[in-house]
Amino acid sequence: MAGLGTDWAVAWLRRSAAVVAEHRVELIELDRAIGDGDHGENMDRGYTAILARLDETPPATPGAAFKLAAMTLMSKVGGAAGPLYGTAFLRAATAVGEAGTLDSGLVAAALAAARDGVVARGKAESGDKTMVDAWTPAVDAAAAAAASGAEPSAVLGAAADAAEAGAVATDPLIARKGRASYLAERAIGHRDPGAASSALILRAAADAASDAASGAPSGAAA
Ligand code: ADP
Ligand code: MG
Repeated sequence: MAGLGTDWAVAWLRRSAAVVAEHRVELIELDRAIGDGDHGENMDRGYTAILARLDETPPATPGAAFKLAAMTLMSKVGGAAGPLYGTAFLRAATAVGEAGTLDSGLVAAALAAARDGVVARGKAESGDKTMVDAWTPAVDAAAAAAASGAEPSAVLGAAADAAEAGAVATDPLIARKGRASYLAERAIGHRDPGAASSALILRAAADAASDAASGAPSGAAA
Protein backbone atom coordinates (compact mmCIF):
# COMPACT_ATOMS: atom_id res chain seq x y z
CA MET A 1 0.00 0.00 0.00
CA ALA A 2 0.92 3.63 -0.41
CA GLY A 3 3.71 5.14 1.59
CA LEU A 4 3.43 8.50 3.31
CA GLY A 5 4.16 11.45 1.05
CA THR A 6 4.73 15.17 1.30
CA ASP A 7 1.02 15.77 1.96
CA TRP A 8 1.31 13.65 5.07
CA ALA A 9 4.50 15.38 6.26
CA VAL A 10 2.88 18.80 5.87
CA ALA A 11 -0.36 17.59 7.49
CA TRP A 12 1.72 16.26 10.40
CA LEU A 13 3.39 19.62 10.96
CA ARG A 14 0.07 21.49 10.69
CA ARG A 15 -1.65 19.08 13.04
CA SER A 16 1.26 19.33 15.48
CA ALA A 17 0.88 23.11 15.47
CA ALA A 18 -2.82 22.76 16.30
CA VAL A 19 -2.21 20.19 19.03
CA VAL A 20 0.64 22.16 20.59
CA ALA A 21 -1.55 25.29 20.63
CA GLU A 22 -4.39 23.30 22.18
CA HIS A 23 -2.09 21.90 24.91
CA ARG A 24 -0.03 25.06 25.39
CA VAL A 25 -1.28 25.77 28.91
CA GLU A 26 -0.91 22.14 29.96
CA LEU A 27 2.73 22.10 28.78
CA ILE A 28 3.37 25.39 30.56
CA GLU A 29 1.95 23.94 33.77
CA LEU A 30 4.03 20.76 33.51
CA ASP A 31 7.15 22.86 33.00
CA ARG A 32 6.17 25.24 35.80
CA ALA A 33 6.09 22.28 38.20
CA ILE A 34 9.61 21.02 37.47
CA GLY A 35 11.24 23.63 35.21
CA ASP A 36 10.78 27.30 34.35
CA GLY A 37 7.30 27.21 32.83
CA ASP A 38 8.17 28.10 29.25
CA HIS A 39 7.85 24.80 27.39
CA GLY A 40 4.30 25.39 26.11
CA GLU A 41 5.19 28.91 25.03
CA ASN A 42 8.40 27.75 23.34
CA MET A 43 6.70 24.99 21.39
CA ASP A 44 3.75 27.14 20.39
CA ARG A 45 6.07 29.86 19.09
CA GLY A 46 8.06 27.31 17.10
CA TYR A 47 5.09 25.60 15.49
CA THR A 48 3.39 28.91 14.70
CA ALA A 49 6.55 29.87 12.82
CA ILE A 50 6.50 26.51 11.03
CA LEU A 51 2.96 27.24 9.78
CA ALA A 52 4.12 30.57 8.35
CA ARG A 53 7.10 28.96 6.59
CA LEU A 54 4.95 26.16 5.15
CA ASP A 55 2.81 28.83 3.52
CA GLU A 56 5.83 30.77 2.22
CA THR A 57 7.83 27.85 0.84
CA PRO A 58 5.79 24.65 0.50
CA PRO A 59 8.19 21.69 0.75
CA ALA A 60 8.47 19.29 -2.19
CA THR A 61 9.39 16.14 -0.26
CA PRO A 62 8.87 14.77 3.27
CA GLY A 63 12.58 15.34 3.89
CA ALA A 64 12.26 18.99 2.89
CA ALA A 65 9.32 19.35 5.29
CA PHE A 66 11.40 17.87 8.12
CA LYS A 67 14.28 20.19 7.27
CA LEU A 68 11.97 23.21 7.29
CA ALA A 69 10.73 22.14 10.74
CA ALA A 70 14.29 21.62 11.97
CA MET A 71 15.54 25.03 10.86
CA THR A 72 12.49 26.80 12.24
CA LEU A 73 12.56 25.08 15.62
CA MET A 74 16.27 25.71 16.01
CA SER A 75 15.90 29.41 15.26
CA LYS A 76 12.58 30.13 17.01
CA VAL A 77 12.52 27.91 20.07
CA GLY A 78 14.85 28.87 22.87
CA GLY A 79 15.85 26.71 25.78
CA ALA A 80 16.70 23.05 25.68
CA ALA A 81 13.82 21.86 23.55
CA GLY A 82 14.51 23.93 20.40
CA PRO A 83 17.94 22.48 19.60
CA LEU A 84 16.79 18.99 20.66
CA TYR A 85 13.70 18.94 18.43
CA GLY A 86 15.66 20.75 15.71
CA THR A 87 18.32 18.06 15.72
CA ALA A 88 15.62 15.36 15.74
CA PHE A 89 13.97 16.75 12.59
CA LEU A 90 17.32 17.36 10.90
CA ARG A 91 18.39 13.75 11.44
CA ALA A 92 14.98 12.53 10.24
CA ALA A 93 15.42 14.63 7.09
CA THR A 94 18.81 13.05 6.45
CA ALA A 95 17.40 9.56 7.07
CA VAL A 96 14.67 9.93 4.42
CA GLY A 97 16.83 11.82 1.90
CA GLU A 98 15.06 12.68 -1.35
CA ALA A 99 12.37 9.98 -1.01
CA GLY A 100 8.97 11.09 -2.31
CA THR A 101 7.11 8.63 -0.12
CA LEU A 102 8.06 6.83 3.05
CA ASP A 103 7.33 3.14 3.49
CA SER A 104 7.11 1.50 6.92
CA GLY A 105 10.83 0.81 7.11
CA LEU A 106 11.71 4.39 6.26
CA VAL A 107 9.19 5.75 8.78
CA ALA A 108 10.75 3.59 11.50
CA ALA A 109 14.25 4.64 10.38
CA ALA A 110 13.30 8.32 10.47
CA LEU A 111 12.00 8.01 14.03
CA ALA A 112 15.16 6.17 15.10
CA ALA A 113 17.33 8.85 13.51
CA ALA A 114 15.33 11.57 15.28
CA ARG A 115 15.75 9.87 18.65
CA ASP A 116 19.45 9.32 18.01
CA GLY A 117 19.75 13.05 17.29
CA VAL A 118 18.12 13.94 20.61
CA VAL A 119 20.49 11.59 22.43
CA ALA A 120 23.56 12.87 20.57
CA ARG A 121 22.65 16.44 21.39
CA GLY A 122 21.40 16.09 24.98
CA LYS A 123 23.27 12.99 26.20
CA ALA A 124 20.26 11.76 28.18
CA GLU A 125 19.74 8.07 28.78
CA SER A 126 16.47 6.22 29.22
CA GLY A 127 15.08 6.87 32.70
CA ASP A 128 16.61 10.36 32.99
CA LYS A 129 13.07 11.85 32.85
CA THR A 130 13.42 13.63 29.50
CA MET A 131 11.83 13.46 26.06
CA VAL A 132 14.07 10.45 25.39
CA ASP A 133 11.71 8.47 27.64
CA ALA A 134 8.93 9.06 25.11
CA TRP A 135 11.09 8.67 21.99
CA THR A 136 12.91 5.44 22.79
CA PRO A 137 9.81 3.28 23.41
CA ALA A 138 8.27 4.90 20.32
CA VAL A 139 11.29 3.96 18.20
CA ASP A 140 11.26 0.39 19.52
CA ALA A 141 7.52 0.00 18.89
CA ALA A 142 7.86 1.45 15.39
CA ALA A 143 10.72 -0.91 14.54
CA ALA A 144 8.74 -3.91 15.78
CA ALA A 145 5.63 -2.86 13.86
CA ALA A 146 7.60 -2.26 10.66
CA ALA A 147 9.35 -5.62 11.01
CA SER A 148 5.98 -7.37 11.36
CA GLY A 149 4.77 -5.86 8.09
CA ALA A 150 2.51 -3.10 9.45
CA GLU A 151 1.41 -0.22 7.20
CA PRO A 152 3.14 3.14 7.80
CA SER A 153 0.06 4.53 9.59
CA ALA A 154 0.08 1.55 11.96
CA VAL A 155 3.81 1.99 12.55
CA LEU A 156 3.12 5.57 13.64
CA GLY A 157 0.12 4.47 15.70
CA ALA A 158 2.33 2.00 17.60
CA ALA A 159 4.95 4.72 18.08
CA ALA A 160 2.37 7.17 19.43
CA ASP A 161 0.90 4.60 21.86
CA ALA A 162 4.39 3.80 23.18
CA ALA A 163 5.34 7.49 23.45
CA GLU A 164 2.22 8.22 25.50
CA ALA A 165 3.00 5.32 27.85
CA GLY A 166 6.62 6.47 28.02
CA ALA A 167 5.58 10.01 28.96
CA VAL A 168 3.29 8.72 31.73
CA ALA A 169 6.16 6.54 32.97
CA THR A 170 8.27 9.66 33.61
CA ASP A 171 5.95 10.63 36.51
CA PRO A 172 7.73 8.68 39.27
CA LEU A 173 11.26 9.42 38.03
CA ILE A 174 13.95 11.73 39.38
CA ALA A 175 15.37 13.90 36.58
CA ARG A 176 19.03 13.55 35.71
CA LYS A 177 19.12 16.04 32.81
CA GLY A 178 17.72 19.51 32.21
CA ARG A 179 16.31 22.00 34.71
CA ALA A 180 14.20 19.39 36.50
CA SER A 181 17.42 17.71 37.69
CA TYR A 182 17.94 20.63 40.11
CA LEU A 183 14.82 19.50 42.00
CA ALA A 184 16.02 15.99 42.85
CA GLU A 185 13.18 14.12 44.66
CA ARG A 186 10.83 17.06 44.26
CA ALA A 187 10.44 16.15 40.58
CA ILE A 188 8.80 12.86 41.58
CA GLY A 189 5.11 12.79 40.73
CA HIS A 190 5.39 15.23 37.83
CA ARG A 191 5.39 14.38 34.14
CA ASP A 192 8.32 15.55 32.04
CA PRO A 193 7.05 18.34 29.75
CA GLY A 194 9.28 17.38 26.83
CA ALA A 195 8.13 13.75 27.02
CA ALA A 196 4.54 15.03 27.04
CA SER A 197 5.08 17.25 23.98
CA SER A 198 6.89 14.42 22.18
CA ALA A 199 3.89 12.14 22.74
CA LEU A 200 1.54 14.83 21.38
CA ILE A 201 3.68 15.30 18.28
CA LEU A 202 3.96 11.57 17.58
CA ARG A 203 0.18 11.19 17.99
CA ALA A 204 -0.24 14.00 15.47
CA ALA A 205 1.99 12.05 13.06
CA ALA A 206 -0.18 8.95 13.47
CA ASP A 207 -3.44 10.89 13.11
CA ALA A 208 -2.19 12.62 9.96
CA ALA A 209 -1.27 9.20 8.56
CA SER A 210 -4.69 7.69 9.36
CA ASP A 211 -6.30 10.60 7.54
CA ALA A 212 -4.00 10.04 4.56
CA ALA A 213 -4.87 6.31 4.58
CA SER A 214 -8.62 6.96 4.78
CA GLY A 215 -8.53 9.70 2.14
CA ALA A 216 -9.69 12.42 4.54
CA PRO A 217 -8.58 15.94 3.67
CA SER A 218 -5.13 16.72 5.07
CA GLY A 219 -5.15 18.80 8.23
CA ALA A 220 -8.72 17.78 9.09
CA ALA A 221 -9.57 17.83 12.77
CA ALA A 222 -9.76 14.53 14.64
P1 ADP B 1 14.26 24.71 29.12
O1 ADP B 1 14.49 23.53 30.02
O2 ADP B 1 15.53 25.29 28.62
O3 ADP B 1 13.34 25.72 29.73
P2 ADP B 1 12.03 23.64 27.63
O4 ADP B 1 11.23 23.97 28.83
O5 ADP B 1 11.49 24.13 26.33
O6 ADP B 1 13.52 24.15 27.80
O7 ADP B 1 12.19 22.07 27.48
C1 ADP B 1 12.34 21.25 28.61
C2 ADP B 1 12.37 19.81 28.15
O8 ADP B 1 13.54 19.54 27.40
C3 ADP B 1 12.41 18.81 29.29
O9 ADP B 1 11.12 18.52 29.75
C4 ADP B 1 13.09 17.60 28.68
O10 ADP B 1 12.16 16.72 28.09
C5 ADP B 1 13.91 18.18 27.58
N1 ADP B 1 15.33 18.13 27.92
C6 ADP B 1 16.04 19.00 28.66
N2 ADP B 1 17.34 18.63 28.71
C7 ADP B 1 17.43 17.50 27.96
C8 ADP B 1 18.51 16.60 27.58
N3 ADP B 1 19.76 16.83 27.99
N4 ADP B 1 18.21 15.54 26.80
C9 ADP B 1 16.95 15.31 26.38
N5 ADP B 1 15.90 16.10 26.68
C10 ADP B 1 16.14 17.17 27.47
MG1 MG C 1 11.42 25.29 30.32
